[in-house]
Amino acid sequence: MKQAKIGTRAIWAGEKDSLAFGATQVPVVHSVSFGYDDMDEWYDVAIGKKKGHIYGRNTNPTVQAFEAKIKDLEGAKAATSFSTGMAAISNTLGTLLSPGDRIVSIKDTYGGTNKIFTEFLPKLNIDVVLCDTGDHEAIEKEVAKGCNVLYLETPTNPTVKITDIKRMAKVGKAAGAVVIVDNTFATPINQNPLALGADLVIHSATKYLGGHADALGGSVCGSEELVEAIYHYREINGATLDPMAAYLLLRGMKTLKLRVDKQCENALAVAKYLQTVDIVEAVHYPGLESHPGHSIATEQMKQYGGMLSFAVKGGVDTVRHLLPKLKYANRAANLGAVETVVGPSRTTSHVECTPEERAAMGIPEGLIRYSAGIEDIEDLLDDLEQAFQLLPENLFATT
Ligand code: PLP
Repeated sequence: MKQAKIGTRAIWAGEKDSLAFGATQVPVVHSVSFGYDDMDEWYDVAIGKKKGHIYGRNTNPTVQAFEAKIKDLEGAKAATSFSTGMAAISNTLGTLLSPGDRIVSIKDTYGGTNKIFTEFLPKLNIDVVLCDTGDHEAIEKEVAKGCNVLYLETPTNPTVKITDIKRMAKVGKAAGAVVIVDNTFATPINQNPLALGADLVIHSATKYLGGHADALGGSVCGSEELVEAIYHYREINGATLDPMAAYLLLRGMKTLKLRVDKQCENALAVAKYLQTVDIVEAVHYPGLESHPGHSIATEQMKQYGGMLSFAVKGGVDTVRHLLPKLKYANRAANLGAVETVVGPSRTTSHVECTPEERAAMGIPEGLIRYSAGIEDIEDLLDDLEQAFQLLPENLFATT
């Protein structure tokens, strides 16, 4: 039988082994440990000879279903999960890097990831090289000098810059590096980095996978060998996904295709509208032909994603007046939820950075990140329009 399409798999994949009592839904198994009367069976499960669960920090049936579903959606051989997206990133890097190693990445990764690169890895005597995002030649040059890990995120947070995964995976492989892609913004609906040559794909499941802003989680998918090593690091270090969170993420993932399709449609319409607004100085969305990464995005993504950002005249003052006037948007740090979410990057993705660091990354203080929800597009556009109209007339008098 031919493989089902991704929307069908988002609903059905990965659940069978975790069902019990004829229930059609995966239960939340709130048990820290799993008991055995047969000492030999217990031993066999403990050493991995037989399938089963021993202790919740290692594995759990609800968590296992989440891992099986994301593994299927990313077309991977194996997957493991984490308490948050940052735990997925830090545990993966902790597994792969040792003192004296070298990692190449881009300047525009998510703020937390950037902090790992600039604050924590150097303390472990790991050489970190951050290239200008989108400068493929510069990345190629650095990778060719030799590195253990090439770490990418595309589209980036918050300026949605695009990196060519196929091209970078090729150069990474040639250098013997493990190529990692944070696929949080794209989602497996729009982009599958493993199929483009990457070795590992990371998600903050907190965002689109869950989709309802009510559960934290993270995942890593890839080969059995790499994922086994990362799982081992995580089971010992303890950044385990909670079963209740796994349940919420699983439930959210069933509607992933529907939600993401609508979010992409809404994001494109909002981006096009923002281009017509006087006080909007720049709109960043890979679906716009004017976006520098548009053609690569068209090549490697099925749709352009639900995230965009825009810069307004008047900087922080305008942001202060504009955002509170939106009726259909949460002003919050999250993204990828069914509700539209807005926030200035200085308060959200890049709050850990100084204004100077943000400026160096091309993030002006008046940049607004917009995560399109699944609302009716007419309402989102009307909402933005009324908010722009309510801005005080004298706002730009001194700017
Ligand atoms: N990766 C990206 C692209 C993100 O946007 C985020 C969070 O915003 C993370 C990773 C970290 O995820 P979490 O907040 O689940 O730790």
